[in-house]
Amino acid sequence: MHEVGMMQNLLNAAVERAKQEGAEQIRVLQLRVGASSGVAPESLQLAFDVVKQGTMAEDAQLRIDRTPSVYYCDNCDRDFEPADPLNECPECHRISTNIRQGNEFTLEFLDVS
Ligand SMILES: [Zn+2]
Repeated sequence: MHEVGMMQNLLNAAVERAKQEGAEQIRVLQLRVGASSGVAPESLQLAFDVVKQGTMAEDAQLRIDRTPSVYYCDNCDRDFEPADPLNECPECHRISTNIRQGNEFTLEFLDVS
């Protein structure tokens, strides 16, 4: 489950930031996770429950903000949200590999005390 490694990195960054702010505890961790990031939200919660043990985020609430995928079709010069996993343009039916949004896996919000 690669989510554990990703979650570990993200938690490390969050703890680092919380310490810079002089916090003792992380209360809320909010992540922005794109629909094409290859990360399953259920797995993230499980991973978080593992990596938070013994850290200042032990009692933190994990929130996940899912963002849709947006691709660009250079044939039609437009952005679109793909309806199927092939990322086919709804106008010309070409398959796009030009992703605009949806790969995100970032820390969006942190509440500390
Ligand atoms: Zn197109």
